[in-house]
Amino acid sequence: MSSSVIDFIATEARFGARNYEPIGVVLSRGEGVWVWDTQGNRYLDCLSAYSAVSQGHCHPKILAAMVEQAHRLTLTSRAFHNDQLALFYEEIAALTGSHKVLPMNSGAEAVESAIKSVRKWGYEVKGVPDGQAEIIVCANNFHGRTLGVVGFSTDPETRGHFGPFAPGFKVIPFGDAPALAEAITPNTVAFLVEPIQGEAGVVIPPAGYFTEVRELCTANNVMLVLDEIQTGLGRTGKLLAEQHEGIEADVTLLGKALSGGFYPVSAVLSNNDVLGTLRPGQHGSTFGGNPLACAVARAAMRVLVEEGMIENAARQGARFLEGLKDIRANTIREVRGRGLMLAVELHPEAGLARRYCEALQGKGILAKDTHEHTIRIAPPLVITSDQVDWALERFAAILTQDFS
Ligand SMILES: *Cc1c(COP(=O)(O)O)cnc(C)c1O
Repeated sequence: MSSSVIDFIATEARFGARNYEPIGVVLSRGEGVWVWDTQGNRYLDCLSAYSAVSQGHCHPKILAAMVEQAHRLTLTSRAFHNDQLALFYEEIAALTGSHKVLPMNSGAEAVESAIKSVRKWGYEVKGVPDGQAEIIVCANNFHGRTLGVVGFSTDPETRGHFGPFAPGFKVIPFGDAPALAEAITPNTVAFLVEPIQGEAGVVIPPAGYFTEVRELCTANNVMLVLDEIQTGLGRTGKLLAEQHEGIEADVTLLGKALSGGFYPVSAVLSNNDVLGTLRPGQHGSTFGGNPLACAVARAAMRVLVEEGMIENAARQGARFLEGLKDIRANTIREVRGRGLMLAVELHPEAGLARRYCEALQGKGILAKDTHEHTIRIAPPLVITSDQVDWALERFAAILTQDFS
């Protein structure tokens, strides 16, 4: 490699908006669970691009579908039909049991689209007076970065100096069903929530929470919108995280792994007439539902099922969690997770999680800190037992050191 790591990092810093603070590694290649930097060093990817690369880096079958489709047709806009969208609809509906699909691109766009749809449903079906619709959300939520979405974030970093924000959102604590019961009014159209709060540090709600949430939403004719952009498509060891709770959302949001990391593809799925309120001209996206996106998403869903990745996530997730729990280290406050969505929370005195992630990098593992004291671990769902054990040895070596 002729270009040095410093060149890439310095050039990014010089020209780019500095809205990220990446770990100091410049990646140039990926395959399965592995990525390589420009110097040829290999790392086990324990972030998977925030769960977008669940199928593993550069999965050959998704790649082949993408290349094949790119040769034929990439974008038509929705002004015309294309020969991939119907197949994408059919396959995602069959996979998830949904009736209606709205294709978008980024996760945040799917969230925005759901907000628009449930408001419209509220006015046109539920009978909420125009302009009065309320949506309930949870503290420490993460639903993306658009203005509408950051307006109901509770993180000062996320919201700070971006206002004024749109009204119509009410914040309640996560995992607290009585708080939901209390917050619902006749104008409540939806409860928007993550099954597990990923960005907040892999926060798993108490058992039975979602059963109560489902009952409250049904009893009050409130749409339950589950943001499964991170938890969905096998990450937690089931196709959808809602299946752990034995419930069904009214509206489900998917993104990230829907394309296996090749391309931004997201979708709003609904089991009732929420999406049915959208009529021609009322919502859209130039790239949403384009043939390239559809072909990529179809392949990404197919390999997830055909190659047993969901079952593997359950199996390897359990192994990883047990292994992390077996690490005896004073630095660890709690280990938690479901499937391959895992986190190690450090004692505040142990020092910043960032330092541990940098040390892990030196051992060939890329993981990401979140909220100062938590290391998030989310490898691709194709990880093997040997690779989990390999990773655990390295986590043990680093977590038993003190970086305070
Ligand atoms: C990543 C994420 C989003 C936003 O997705 P983008 O593609 O980054 O816009 C929304 N909700 C959840 C739960 C996420 O993890």
